[in-house]
Amino acid sequence: MVTKVAPISGWGRYPVEPCELERPERYADLRPFEGGLIVRGQGRSYGDASLNENGRVLLTERVNRLLELDAEKGILRAEAGVTLAEALDVIVPKGWFLPVTPGTKFVSLGGCVAADVHGKNHHCDGSFGDHVLEMEMILADGRRMLCSPAEKPALFWATVGGMGLTGIIGEVALKLTPVQSGHMMVRHHSADNLEQLFQLLEDPATDDRYTVAWLDSLATGQHLGRGIAMFGHHASREELPSGMESSSKPKRSHSIPFDFPAFALNSLSIGAFNALYYSREGRKREPFLSGYDPYFYPLDAIGNWNRLYGKRGFMQYQCVIPGSAAFEGIKTVLEKLSGSRRPSFLAVLKRFGAQGKGLLSFPMAGYTLALDLPIRDEGLFDLLAELDKVVLKHGGRVYLAKDARLSAESFRAMYPRYNDWLKIKKAADPKNIFSSNLSRRLKIAEEAA
Ligand SMILES: Cc1cc2nc3c(=O)[nH]c(=O)nc-3n(C[C@H](O)[C@H](O)[C@H](O)COP(=O)(O)OP(=O)(O)OC[C@H]3O[C@@H](n4cnc5c(N)ncnc54)[C@H](O)[C@@H]3O)c2cc1C
Repeated sequence: MVTKVAPISGWGRYPVEPCELERPERYADLRPFEGGLIVRGQGRSYGDASLNENGRVLLTERVNRLLELDAEKGILRAEAGVTLAEALDVIVPKGWFLPVTPGTKFVSLGGCVAADVHGKNHHCDGSFGDHVLEMEMILADGRRMLCSPAEKPALFWATVGGMGLTGIIGEVALKLTPVQSGHMMVRHHSADNLEQLFQLLEDPATDDRYTVAWLDSLATGQHLGRGIAMFGHHASREELPSGMESSSKPKRSHSIPFDFPAFALNSLSIGAFNALYYSREGRKREPFLSGYDPYFYPLDAIGNWNRLYGKRGFMQYQCVIPGSAAFEGIKTVLEKLSGSRRPSFLAVLKRFGAQGKGLLSFPMAGYTLALDLPIRDEGLFDLLAELDKVVLKHGGRVYLAKDARLSAESFRAMYPRYNDWLKIKKAADPKNIFSSNLSRRLKIAEEAA
C-alpha cells in the first residue's frame, strides 16, 4: 500500500490540509491504523469531515466492487467505495433506482451512509440510512462486524450519520426503489415570494415524490424568497410517449479547466443569472419529461464546478429549521444574507420529513436551506456565526457534511443526541482511532479519547 503526503480539501476547497494518503487496492487491505485515521470516499463533503491534518486518510476509491444485485428483490450489495454513478449504471437498466440520492452521483456508498445523506424525496422516503439493510464494519480493533437495524442497532445508528468516526464502513447492502423508466416527470411552479413558495411546498395538491425549490437569493423586499418549486416522480411506462426508449443515457460532462477569478461571481453576474433562470424555468408550467441524470445531477454536467468560486474556495451553509418555526427562521436567514450583500450562487429550499434514527443525522421535520458562498474575506465567517444563532434560536441545526467552521458549543446545542452517540463511539473506539479535522474542531476527539 502506498502512503504519500499531499494537501487535500473537501469539495468547498476550504480548508486545505496536508494528509498522509493511503489507497488500499483490495477490500482485505481495509484496516485501521494504530496512529489514527479517517476514511475518505470521493471527498464530496464540503468541509473538513474527510481530512486528517498530518495524519492518515484511508481512500476507498479502489475498494469498489459491486458484489451482488438481486434483481428480483432489488437489493444491491457492494463495497463502500462504489460510487452512486457506478451503481446507477448497473441498476437502472434492471428497473431499479437508488432509494435516496444527493445532488451528485460522484459520492461513495460509504460517504452516503456516514453523512446519512438526504435527497429531494426526504419527506416521502427518509434518508439514506433508512434503506441500508446491513453493512459490514471494520472496527478500531480490526474486527469485522455485521450490523443492521436488528443486529448491533446501537452501532448501526451511531454509524449512520456518524461522519466516519465509529469505524470503517466496508460493505453495504441497500434496498433499491423499483422504476419503470430512466425518465422523470417534472412540473415547475413559480412563486413570487417566500410565503408563496412555502404554500406550494406544503400543498398536497402540488406535492410529488421529489420536491425542491430554487431560490433567487438576491431578491429582497416583497420578493424576498421568490423562486421555483420543482416537483417530480419516476415516469411510468404510460407516461412515456409511444416509441420512446425507457432508458435514459447520462450525458458527458464538461470541466472547468482553471480557477475562476474571485470577482467572476458577483451580485451583478448572479443577479443576471437568477433573473434569467426565474423567468425561463417559471414558464415550464406543463409537466415535462427529463432524463434522471439532468434531473438529479444538473451540477455533475460541469466537472470541477467548485473552481468557479476561485482559489480561496467556498462554504456551503446548509441548515434545517423545524416545524412551525421554519418560515420565520428561513426568512430571517435570507434577510441577513441579502443584508450582507454576499450573493449566494445557489440557494435551495426543501421540506424534510420526520427525523430518523441516526444519532447525528442532520434531517428533522421542517425546512432546509442550502447556500453556496464564496470565501472572500473573514467577514463571511462572522455572517455564518450570525446565521448559526438564528438557526439555534429556532431549534435547528447545521449539516456536518457541508461544514468547516461550526463551533463545538453550537454543535452540542444543535445535536441533542450527541451524548448518546458519544457513549457508543467510546465503546466501539476507546482509543479514538477514528478522528478527523471535523472531530477535533468540534471537540469530539478530546471527549472521545
Ligand atoms: C454537488 C453536491 C451536491 C450534494 N448534494 C447533497 C444532497 O442533496 N444531500 C446530501 O445529504 N448531501 C449532499 N452532498 C454532500 C455529499 O452527499 C456528502 O458529503 C457525502 O458524504 C459525500 O460522499 P463522499 O463519498 O464524497 O464522502 P467523503 O466526502 O469522502 O466523506 C464524507 C464523510 O463520510 C465518511 N466516510 C466516507 N466513506 C466512509 C467509509 N467507507 N467508512 C466510514 N466513513 C466513511 C468520511 O470519513 C467523512 O466523514 C452534496 C455534495 C456535492 C458536492
